[in-house]
Amino acid sequence: MSINTTAYHTILKEAAASNALLVAVSKTKSIADIRALYDLGHRDFGENYVQELADKFQALPNDIRWHFIGHLQTNKVKYIAPFVHLIHSVDSQKLLSAIHNEGKKIARVIPCLLQSYISKDANKYGMDENELQALVEAIKKNAEEFHYVDIRGLMGMASFTEDNGLIIAEFERLHKSFVKIQAGADLPNGPFDILSMGMSADYRFALAAGSNLIRIGSTLFGSRT
Ligand SMILES: *Cc1c(COP(=O)(O)O)cnc(C)c1O
Repeated sequence: MSINTTAYHTILKEAAASNALLVAVSKTKSIADIRALYDLGHRDFGENYVQELADKFQALPNDIRWHFIGHLQTNKVKYIAPFVHLIHSVDSQKLLSAIHNEGKKIARVIPCLLQSYISKDANKYGMDENELQALVEAIKKNAEEFHYVDIRGLMGMASFTEDNGLIIAEFERLHKSFVKIQAGADLPNGPFDILSMGMSADYRFALAAGSNLIRIGSTLFGSRT
C-alpha cells in the first residue's frame, strides 16, 4: 500500500487542462492511503459500498467531498443521505424517489447524476437512452416530487475492452445525451453541468469526448485484490 504521487500529479494536470474534476476512487483502500492523498491537498473521493463509505466518513476529516459511485439500494440511501456530496449512480426513478424522500426527512437537497448504460457489459448498471429521457421528462413534469434531489448531470461506464474505437463511441454517445438534455428546458433545482465518465484505463478517451469528471482508482492507489 502506498499511493502513486507521480501519477496523481500527472492526472491532476490532465484533468485541469480539460476543466475536469478528479475523483479519487478509494474503494477497498485503507484510511492511511486516503489520508496520504488528502495530505497532498486532495478532497474528492469516490466509494462504491455504503457501509465502507459510512465508516470512512466517520474516520476521516469532514472537509472531504464523498462521491458515491456504486450501485445503490433504496433501503441504504439513508446511511449516506446526510453527508454524501454527489451520488453518481441513480439508475431508476424508484431510486431517485427514495433519495428525494430521505432528503425531505432531513431537509437536505441531495446532488445526483443519472447513470446511463452505454457499454456492452452485462454486469453494469444504468438506464438506456429511452429510460433516461423518460425520467428526465418525469422530473420536469413533477418537480414537487423531486424537490429534494438536484440532478446535476450524467454518469456512465464504457465497455471493458481492448477496442478503443468502441470505448470512444460509447463516451461520445453519452456526451451527446448530456448535451441533448442540457439543451432541453432546464431541470428544476441546480445547473445540469456534470458529465462523469472515465476511469484509469480510459480517462483520456473520456476527456477527449467531453468528460468533466473522471473517476480514477487503481492508477492512484494500486490495483485492487
Ligand atoms: C472502481 C470504479 C472506478 C475506478 O476504477 P479504476 O479502474 O480503478 O480507475 C470508477 N468508476 C466506478 C463506477 C467504479 O466502480
